[in-house]
Amino acid sequence: MTDSNASANGPDCVEGFREVEREIARACADAGRDRGSVELIAVSKTFDADAISPVIAAGQRVFGENRVQEAKAKWPPLKEATLDIKLHLIGPLQSNKAREAVMLFDAIHSVDRASLCEALSKEIKSRDRHPLLFAQINTGEEPQKAGVAPQDADAFLAACRERYGLTISGLMCIPPAEEAPAPHFALTAKIAERNGLKLLSMGMSADFAVAIQFGATHIRVGSAIFGKR
Ligand SMILES: *Cc1c(COP(=O)(O)O)cnc(C)c1O
Repeated sequence: MTDSNASANGPDCVEGFREVEREIARACADAGRDRGSVELIAVSKTFDADAISPVIAAGQRVFGENRVQEAKAKWPPLKEATLDIKLHLIGPLQSNKAREAVMLFDAIHSVDRASLCEALSKEIKSRDRHPLLFAQINTGEEPQKAGVAPQDADAFLAACRERYGLTISGLMCIPPAEEAPAPHFALTAKIAERNGLKLLSMGMSADFAVAIQFGATHIRVGSAIFGKR
């Protein structure tokens, strides 16, 4: 995957990053929100250090990856060079990779089933590492997509808390590609509110301004910064 992307596109990435920052500022102003209430996660999956380093140099500190193995291969030297980098896992997580994920990531956005809760709970306790956790909601109820069905969300969140001792801080959703995202963001926000969760991971390159309108606290933006994958 990494081979398909040019690595000599650092300056383009910085331009993309600056443009995304301007759009976030605009969307926050339109929604009457502080810029500081929205965290930009720069999704660097499939891009290598040559593309990522200029974006770090331009000031970005929070990055998203969707695969544990890719992140493990790519990020340790980058993190060593810039100590305050935060890494977010935004892709599906297999239970047998829970340990690596808990050691490497500062946040996990894809908590969505009992077996994963059990594995995460064990690793979080034994390693004394406490990544920020988001439960993923499959708002479009798409069979091919990960996430908890909306009607099962309340029971799932109760089980996370009571059965697995996990602190879930927010919800994440990925709206169906072919639908308007707004109803999916609204539904996610509603489930979060009735469960007392403050964080909302929603919005990607095509729809982060809409997500900000609907209360997103974490937006996951890849191609608008780094270019096409
Ligand atoms: C790849 C990915 C993104 C970023 O998508 P873009 O459209 O490139 O901004 C966001 N969220 C998840 C879960 C992803 O896998």
